[in-house]
Amino acid sequence: MPPKPATLAAFEEAKGFMPVGEGLALYEAAVTATRLGLPLLEVGTYCGRSTLLLADAAREAGLLAVTVDHHRGSEEQQPGWDYHDPTVVDHEVGRMDTLPTFRRTLFKAGLEDHVIAVVGRSPQVAATWGGEVGLVFIDGGHTEEHAQGDYEGWAPHLAHGGLLVIHDVFPDPADGGQAPYRIYRRALASGCFTEVSKTDSLRVLRRVSPGI
Ligand code: SAH
Ligand code: MG
Repeated sequence: MPPKPATLAAFEEAKGFMPVGEGLALYEAAVTATRLGLPLLEVGTYCGRSTLLLADAAREAGLLAVTVDHHRGSEEQQPGWDYHDPTVVDHEVGRMDTLPTFRRTLFKAGLEDHVIAVVGRSPQVAATWGGEVGLVFIDGGHTEEHAQGDYEGWAPHLAHGGLLVIHDVFPDPADGGQAPYRIYRRALASGCFTEVSKTDSLRVLRRVSPGI
């Protein structure tokens, strides 16, 4: 079930690194997850590329997408690193700030009314978050500490039957960092999740029993 062309065009135009094939898989998972009638939760907003797809699915179902980011960038996005974009720096404070770009992305796509953007650190937001969600998309920091923290913080909020989606899962260390792969393995080893699909580095799991 492909995204609406308008949203797909906005997705392709938005800053970010997710390829279209993975985006379509994320969108399909989001549409499936809306059947639970609960919010869709993303860790790692960046400039809103993937948020657009969650927001599109949420809009169709009359639900909300919630996206969490401190907007200061991950390790590999800092100046001097491979994924740094100098256009997303707040020169007054001398730090990255992706929030203004994200807001433009969302506004241009007409999706502002369908998204709650939370500016904060994922573990703190997770610890403050009260309700169940129908989808957890983990695409935040890729260090061991951040990835494990995202899993431990957000997976407990995922409803029975809800979908856990993890990006940048690389079984071969030659292809990329191992932290997302390790939380994917951890989720499967817990026995609380079964695998739904694999699309390049995107993994979709379904909660089949409580726990993490
Ligand atoms: N999902 C986006 C890409 C996210 S990049 C897309 O597909 O377009 C990863 C993002 O995670 C960065 O914007 C970074 O600021 C954020 N991040 C990293 N660690 C975080 C943490 N502990 N809490 C909140 N956000 C974090
Ligand atoms: Mg990613």
